[in-house]
Amino acid sequence: MTGAVTIVEVGPRDGLQAHPHPIETAARIKLVSLLRKAGVRRLEVGAFVSPARVPRMADTGAVMEAVGSREEPGDMVLIANERGLDQALEHGARAIAVFTAASDAFAERNIGSTVAASLDRFAPIVSRARSAGVFVRGYISTITDCPYAGPVEPDAVKNVARALDAMGCAEIALGETLGRATPNRIAAVVDAVATAIPLDRIAAHFHDTYGMGLANVREAVRLGVRTVDAAAGGLGGCPFAPGAAGNVATEDVVYMLHGLGFETGIDLDGIRAATRFCRDELGVVPTSRVFAAMAKA
Ligand code: MG
Repeated sequence: MTGAVTIVEVGPRDGLQAHPHPIETAARIKLVSLLRKAGVRRLEVGAFVSPARVPRMADTGAVMEAVGSREEPGDMVLIANERGLDQALEHGARAIAVFTAASDAFAERNIGSTVAASLDRFAPIVSRARSAGVFVRGYISTITDCPYAGPVEPDAVKNVARALDAMGCAEIALGETLGRATPNRIAAVVDAVATAIPLDRIAAHFHDTYGMGLANVREAVRLGVRTVDAAAGGLGGCPFAPGAAGNVATEDVVYMLHGLGFETGIDLDGIRAATRFCRDELGVVPTSRVFAAMAKA
């Protein structure tokens, strides 16, 4: 396999949003600059969501200004509503992400509405963002399993993907929220969604709860997905939420992709420096096997 795979580094947002301790704005800025230095060209800088619910993301505007997000089309921020879009635009965001799920039970608990209602709510927001020339990603959570309703049908994911596409999302990120699926189930979802959305507009967003993260990334890439989300060190687990494992680690994904013959433009030593910073300055415990192996080598 050859060609390029784009890594979307989600550590600064998805990785830190549930961090157990307060994080200095300066540390978030430093993390972004270390990731950039490692060659990361697309990254989730932060989120404009309720600071009461997600206090770690409260100063995202300041982070964006400090890291020059106005000039970086690859810098993305997550938003939850119109107010979030207002803030994103105010700080010059070039890319935003909106989020829903493939399971009503999950959507109701996580975002307080059914999937259909969340799509209705996001449609005018996406349209406004597009009018402002902003790239929009649509996240779909629970693509294979819902913690409340059990297994999710691939067709349910396809239908949500189609709705996000119809409202103007340029990219659909498939979130395997629980990190429980095996590659055959990932293949079923990717195949179903690919009948509605071109593969070059699909991103894989996997977690490592059951140790299936890399195998699932490999399967998505084998099927033609060329955008993969990952977090330096495997950031993202929350010690106060048993069962919530981190994102697949950027080091592990990059190591595997380079070995398979793909280019990512990312320097492993650079990611290692970012992970080391998270470990030493933020108290994060890295889960990346490649990080651990490099430390010993
Ligand atoms: Mg994640």
